[in-house]
Formats: sequence, C-alpha cells, structure tokens
Amino acid sequence: MDESELDESQRLAIYQIQRKVLERAIRGDGLVSSMELLCREIEQTLKEDRALCSILLLDGQRLKHCAAPSLPEAYCEAIDGVTIGEGIGSCGTALFRREQVVVTDIATDPLWQDFRDLAMSNGLGACWSNPIIASDGAVLASFAIYYPDQRSPSRLHLYLIQAFSALALLVIDHYRLAEQQSRLTAALGKINARLTAVMQVIPDVAIVLDQSGHYIDFCSDTFELTTPPQTLWGQSIENLFEPELAAQVMKVARETLATGEMQIFEYEVVTEGERRVFEGRTAIVDDFYTDGRDDSYVLWMAREVTTRKCAEENAARLALFDALTGLPNRRHAEEQLEQLLEEVNRGHASGAVMFLDLNDFKRINDSLGHQQGDLLLQQVARRLEDQTRRSEMVARLGGDEFIVLLRETLTGKDELAESTAAVGRRILDCFNAPLESQGHAYSVSVSVGIALADKPGLKTEDLLRNADAAMYEAKRLGGNRVAFFEESLQREADRRLDLERRMVQAIRSMHFVAYFQPQLTPDGALFGAEALLRWFDPEEGAIPPDAFIPVAERAGLIYQLQDIVFEQSCQMLAELRKKDRLPPVFRLAINISPLQLQNYKLTERLDFFLARYDLTADRFTLEITENLLMGQQQETYQQMQALRQRGFRFAIDDFGTGYSSLAYLHRLDVDQLKIDKSFIRELGETAAGEAIVDSVAALSRSLNLEVIAEGVETELQARILHEKSLTGLQGYLFARPMSSADLMDYLGSSSGNPASA
Ligand code: C2E
Ligand code: MG
Ligand code: MG
Repeated sequence: MDESELDESQRLAIYQIQRKVLERAIRGDGLVSSMELLCREIEQTLKEDRALCSILLLDGQRLKHCAAPSLPEAYCEAIDGVTIGEGIGSCGTALFRREQVVVTDIATDPLWQDFRDLAMSNGLGACWSNPIIASDGAVLASFAIYYPDQRSPSRLHLYLIQAFSALALLVIDHYRLAEQQSRLTAALGKINARLTAVMQVIPDVAIVLDQSGHYIDFCSDTFELTTPPQTLWGQSIENLFEPELAAQVMKVARETLATGEMQIFEYEVVTEGERRVFEGRTAIVDDFYTDGRDDSYVLWMAREVTTRKCAEENAARLALFDALTGLPNRRHAEEQLEQLLEEVNRGHASGAVMFLDLNDFKRINDSLGHQQGDLLLQQVARRLEDQTRRSEMVARLGGDEFIVLLRETLTGKDELAESTAAVGRRILDCFNAPLESQGHAYSVSVSVGIALADKPGLKTEDLLRNADAAMYEAKRLGGNRVAFFEESLQREADRRLDLERRMVQAIRSMHFVAYFQPQLTPDGALFGAEALLRWFDPEEGAIPPDAFIPVAERAGLIYQLQDIVFEQSCQMLAELRKKDRLPPVFRLAINISPLQLQNYKLTERLDFFLARYDLTADRFTLEITENLLMGQQQETYQQMQALRQRGFRFAIDDFGTGYSSLAYLHRLDVDQLKIDKSFIRELGETAAGEAIVDSVAALSRSLNLEVIAEGVETELQARILHEKSLTGLQGYLFARPMSSADLMDYLGSSSGNPASA
C-alpha cells in the first residue's frame, strides 16, 4: 500500500500527527514527551481496534523504556533492561534481527515463550514491532503496536507502522544529534579551560605560522612582548626579526613541515642592548582551519631561557677555569694540549709542556695560613702570565702546581729545546724578586720540568707524565732549576710506581724488619742502638732504605713503615726487660721522616706503642734531619714540644749535610747531633774532614749537646775520634746493623758491654 491509496481524511490525520509531533520536538520538550505524544495520537487513530503503542530505545544490547503511555506500568517495568535476542518477544527479536516482526498471537507464538505469561497477564494478545534504524545503520529503537486479542495487520496497518517509524526516527535522531552536540561542546569547554590554565602557568608564547612565515595565531599570558600582539597578526617574521634570525626560524619551520617531527632550537634576540636567549620548539598543525583547507601550519612555542643559559655558561666557564687564580684549569689545559698534539701530528707545529712546582710552598702555606697562601698563589699566577704571554696557555693544575703549554713553529729539536729552555729560565728569573703579602716578603722559587712535543704520535697523558717526571728531577737536583724529560726519568718513574705496588704487598707479607746498629761510648761501652728498617724482598733480596723510604714518603706508606719500626723496637725492649737483660742506660734511636712531624698522629702512635709495651719515652731518641727544621711550621714545633714533654729526646741526623742555619740549633730543644758519615770518611784523608768534626764538637760543647759520629769504618777514624771526646760512635768498625735476636746476643757478649748508669 502506498500513500495514494489513503483517503483524504486518513491522509489528513497522518499529516496532523506528524505536524504535532514535529512541533513538540522542535520546541525542545524532550524525547519522551514527543514520543508519548506520537503514541497517543496513533492510539487515537486506531482507537476502535484498541491499539496500544510502545517505543523502546536500544541502549547497547538492552531495551530501554521510552514511551508507552497506555501499556500497563508493571509490563513496561518488566520489559525495561531486557537484553535483545532471538525469542525475546516481538521488539527484542525485531531489534536483534533488524527487521519487522509481526506476532499475531502471543499465546501461541514461540517468540513470546519466555514473556507470554507477562504479556497475557497484562492483557496483551498480539504485537507487531518495527526496528528504527538510522541512516548510518545504527539500530536506535523499536516502534510497536499491541492489541488485547490476537490479530493480523491490515495493509493500512503496515503502511502506518512504516510511516510512524520514519517519524520516530526523525525525532529520535534529532535528540541524538542534540545530545552529541552538547557532549562535544562540554568537551571543548573542558579542553579550552585546560589550555587557558596551561597558558597561564607556562612561560611560553605560542605562535602559529603559515608556510611562508606569517603570524596566523598568537597566544600568551605571561610573555613580555616587545611588539603589541594585535599588530602581529598577518605579519611575516621577516618583517619582525633580524634577517639572520628570521632565516633560522624559517629553516626550522620548513624542517618541521617536511618531517612532521618536533624541532628544538635556541636563538638569541638583542633588545635594548640586552641579550636574551630563547628556546623554541616547533610542531606541525594540520587542520588548523576547519573549512577544508588542507594546508599545514607550524606551532612555535618560545620560552626565554636567558637565566638558565647564563648559569650554564658560567658553569662551563667554572668547569674550565680555576676559581682562585682565574687561570685555565687542568681539564682546559688537557684539552688545549690535545689540540696542540693534533697539530704536531699533522706536522703543523711543535710544542712543549712545562710543569712548574713551587719549592717549599707547603711550608709557606702552613706557616702563613691558607688565606695568605692563596694570595701568594694569585701573585704567582700573574707573574707566570706575564712571562709567558706568547705561550699557548698557562694553567693551574691545583695546589702549587702550574703548567705552561708552548706552541712553536720550529721543527728542529735543538731549536725547540733552546727556545723552551729560554722560557723556563725567564720563569725562574721572575721569582728572583720575592712575593709580597701583608707587608712581608716571601722568597719562592720554582722547579720546572719540560717535555717536548717534537714528534708525532705523542699522547696527552704521556707528555704530562713526562713533564711531571722532569719536574721531580729538577726538584731532586735541588730545585730552582729547569730539567728536561729524558727516557731514564721515565724508567725511574715506572720503577717508583712498581716499588710502591710491591711495598704495599710487602707490608702485608711482613717483609719489613727493623735492624739495630749498636752505638758505643768512646770507651767501647754500649749505650744504645739505632733502629734501621730493612726490606727483604723474596726475589730482589734486601732493598736499601734509601731506595724505598723516599718512595714510601711520596706514596703515604711511611706511616705504616714507621709503625713497624716502633712496634719491633718496643717488642725488643720488652723482651730484654722480660729476660732481665735491659741495661739501665739503653736508648733506641728511631729515624723520623719529616712528614711525620707535620702530622699530629705521630704523638698518638708513639703513646699507643709505649702504653702497649709498658715502656717510657726516655728509652727513645728521635732522629730528625736538619732540613726539617728550616721551615717554621707550627705543627712541627708543637709536636716536638709535646714529644719532649713526654720524655723523648731529639737528635739531628746527618748533621752538616743540610742547609740549616746554626741559629736553629739553640732555638730548638735538641739533645744530640750526629755528624754525617761523609765527614767521618774523610778523617785521616783530608784536613777538612777533621776540621769539620772539630768545629761540630766545639759547637756541641758550647750548646751542651751530645755528639755522635756515624759511619766509623776504620781504626784510624776511631783513633782520631777518640781524641775529640765525643759522646758516642757508630759504624761498621764496631757493629753492623743486626736483627733484634742478634742484638740480644750481642748484648750478652763481651763486645756489647753496656755503659754503667
Ligand atoms: P741514617 O739514619 O743516617 O742511618 C745510618 C745509615 O748509615 C744506615 O744506612 C746505616 O746502615 C749506615 N751505616 C752505619 N754504619 C756505617 C758505616 O760504617 N759505613 C757506612 N758506609 N754506612 C754505615 P741504612 O740502614 O741504609 O739507612 C739509610 C737511611 O735510611 C738512614 O740514614 C735513614 O735516613 C733512612 N732510614 C732507615 N730506616 C729508617 C726508618 O725506620 N725510618 C725512616 N724515616 N728512615 C729510615
Ligand atoms: Mg739515622
Ligand atoms: Mg745519618
């Protein structure tokens, strides 16, 4: 049946229903109200048949009550929420099948099997249901007509069902779209609110550029602009920025458009003479306009990073420069040297590394305090800079160590060495005049080690190590001089390192043993012994102390060695006492390295060993060298004072070989001088030898000091010394250094007659 078969009144009735329902929908009364009106109007049209209408929405897979103004409420409630499917009444099945389902007799139709009782108890006998399907294929609702009795639809009925289903679709779709729109509007509002908040807190400006660099959009809450924003729109960045910056931004923009990837770039703007640094980030924006233009745009977020940039630059500067002197630091020097060596490798240049160390600076620093020391180091830095203006770099490595890098165009090794040595000499000379601090003058001198970069293939660290080794050589030769690196120095440095390693092992394996060399009065009575350390290496045999003591001092192992000497010395004294063979007058002389007197722990350690072996300090003489006394270190004096109060005595070892002035002798509380063996050796051979012994003896008498001659090897020497009425003699002629067991035997023998108290 089609519309042409309807009579005029039927057509009018349908038209009026459509109009009423549409009016209500447009008025915005709500979907339920519009659908209830529709149901009532249809029921009115089919009222002689006692038709009842229902509209159920489909919510996911479930039926949802919408409008059924004349159906029993209990029935509607029971249907609400039922899952659609085959055999779920007429509506459940129609929505499931997506096609019209006409059940003429609920009482017998299998589709109603599960709902039959419900329907019949609510007085329902037939139900024709039609699915309402949107143009996009979505099943939205069912439109159904119920009858109290069993009944088949007429052609008119079927026509009406189609017509009203279409109307219902129109209204439901209308509400569906309205709902979608309000959801979208709410979501947009949320996004916008979030964006507004983000723009408030981030210090960025957001700019949208088109492909030719015109400002399309602009957004900033916090950004301080030099140009008012409203004047920006439509402008090209070429008009707004310096050509160079504009080109940089355009390059990044093109890159962004080409790759679609975010770009990060840094740029600088100078405004009113002030340099400002920005970090820009760009991203591609497709569909910026919704009008179908398919151009891509560039979002450019910019943030000022001047403060951070300055901090970074400052940190980078600090990382390369020494804070105290402002000179380049070690890292910087190493980088520079690396570059120099690259040039040397390419044959474009030659060069040299100079290592400088201030002689005795530690002493000055300790006695003046570090602040004064710092001031002096600053002066040293300035002088070095003055002397080496044309050099590549003067740097401070740390402490009192400096480095000078020289770059030359000379190729001959001799010429290079000559010009480098000249710089070295100038440096030495520039310290002829003393440094000044707080009105006091301080003489300093330097030791300079030079390593030449005269051939390709040299490595940074090798050159630095070689210059360092040369510097030590300059120091060893007395300081205030220049020394060039030689291969033999390298071997020496390697040997030292090797020795250090083996020493650590030897300490653990107890290969260090204290030996004792007897000391006798001129009459041959034993009054003491000097403890001398021995290292017995299983492979190399005995290693002499002169070879390992300096290395131990440099490596900081001397404290452990000294502990070994103390302990074994104390052990021996305790053993003698236990055997009741400890003479009333018997002292052990212990050699003390200068480092130890500067270190407070010495007193602590000695106290510890005395207490442990229940011994008194008057059993010990501590031998120090006169060089130690040259400085005026507070620590040294305080420590000596503390030790003297405990009863330790002090002797000056190797007297006559150092640089000390005699003035120190009477200022210092020492008890004994040991005339160095080099003078004793000359006795009977040269007049000078005897003259020195005489003068030391006379000096000691006038200062009331004991004198011991060490290194007595011959009868002749002994005889000559006998006349000088010295306090004691020590040497191979009487006894060689021996183990503690041998010394105990020696004490028991006739040759070891102890001196009487
Ligand atoms: P030193 O304190 O002047 O010790 C005297 C050195 O002369 C010892 O050498 C001793 O063996 C040697 N000597 C003794 N009588 C004669 C002799 O008649 N003729 C000759 N030619 N030499 C003789 P040694 O044991 O090789 O020690 C050398 C230096 O090593 C010592 O000189 C001392 O400065 C240092 N030393 C030794 N043991 C220690 C120690 O435990 N601690 C510290 N800090 N230094 C030590
Ligand atoms: Mg000694
Ligand atoms: Mg000596």
